[in-house]
Amino acid sequence: MVRGSKSIVIEHSCPQCGAPVNLQETDRLLHCEYCRVKLIINSNPYPRYQIPLDDSKAEVVYLPYWRFRGMAFSVGMDRTRTGVVDSTLLALQMRGVPMTLGVRPQAVALRIMPTGAENVLRGSIDLEGARKTLEGRLQRVDRISQGQGRHSYRVIVGETISMICLPAYIRGSFIYDALTGKRLSHLEVPTDGVLNRDRHYRVDFLPTLCPNCGWDMEMDRDSLVAICKNCESLWDTTHPTPRRMDFLLIPADAPHLYVPFWRIRASVRPFPLRSYADLIRFANLPQVPRREDEERPLHFILPAFKVNPNHFLGLSRAATISRLSEGESGLFPKSASLYPVNLPVSEAAEAIKVLLAELGKPRKDVVLAFEEISVRVEDASLLLLPYWQKSYAYLNPEVRYSLPKASLRYGRYI
Ligand SMILES: [Zn+2]
Ligand SMILES: [Zn+2]
Repeated sequence: MVRGSKSIVIEHSCPQCGAPVNLQETDRLLHCEYCRVKLIINSNPYPRYQIPLDDSKAEVVYLPYWRFRGMAFSVGMDRTRTGVVDSTLLALQMRGVPMTLGVRPQAVALRIMPTGAENVLRGSIDLEGARKTLEGRLQRVDRISQGQGRHSYRVIVGETISMICLPAYIRGSFIYDALTGKRLSHLEVPTDGVLNRDRHYRVDFLPTLCPNCGWDMEMDRDSLVAICKNCESLWDTTHPTPRRMDFLLIPADAPHLYVPFWRIRASVRPFPLRSYADLIRFANLPQVPRREDEERPLHFILPAFKVNPNHFLGLSRAATISRLSEGESGLFPKSASLYPVNLPVSEAAEAIKVLLAELGKPRKDVVLAFEEISVRVEDASLLLLPYWQKSYAYLNPEVRYSLPKASLRYGRYI
């Protein structure tokens, strides 16, 4: 569990037998203990939960809140501080309505919003806007508590992003909290803009059958990827129907497990970072760039899984500077195990900016340019690296960074 925060519990009934099932917010697989069915929870575009309301006399509308839970990085001149953020933020602009839900989502079991629930108000604050607001807030807290100077930047990598909906009702020209009955806001001009509904959501429960061969696939409870051990394929389960995933694998002799990384090619401004030789110069690595380094494209390599944010940065740096081989595309070996992929590539890419500050020498040049840095992802693929177990950690001899088992365990509950 993440220190100082309680996780959210979601109550659902099994789509097959109706038995109650308790889920965690990071769960992407529903496993019913009664009828043994396993179903992939497929929410688009994001999981949406409601704070339950048992009975209501009025017509209920739901006020949407963004829910972020993930890594926070504070990039300063001397070093990067890390933390975990656990926060909700109102997704619409409505004076009088609380900006956050505080501890309310942890006080009761939430429910999965069903497809076709048409009474969620449409928010004008999108995910990026919410992320910026949260970063801005943390920035202020940072300056006060740590007395940091002007040059400190916060970046949030939201690993668990969902929407939590608070029930409310409208009476006359006022909106009320349906749970407490408290009057929240006066709808000065109750226009369509205020009362627009957000219908862009659906949730489906998909069987774990391989779309290619019909075999029962394996999937960890928090993984975005299912494995078919029969036709040795990987499937991205975040699409309305699972999509076959291409991947690169560095073959090895009997590794304990394959650990997933995102291998990202990006265009970065204002720094020239196209080739491995550029990286040698940028990071002042103790090597002389060779001719082939000028031609070798630079890939940022970041974990495709959640882990303690300090290790996330250390591992990203070590993997990006290591001269890993290209890897092979093909099949996923029947006998191999895969560590769950639970960090989407879009979220990993948010951390590239932070990684630049860890790589660049002198560091201050990167931090001073931080606001102007832009990172545009051009190409990304899943790279599976072999790891071997050694007492309390997993190791890969090429990436010189050991991965403590404890931090992996912690990461699965972020
Ligand atoms: Zn069941
Ligand atoms: Zn298959």
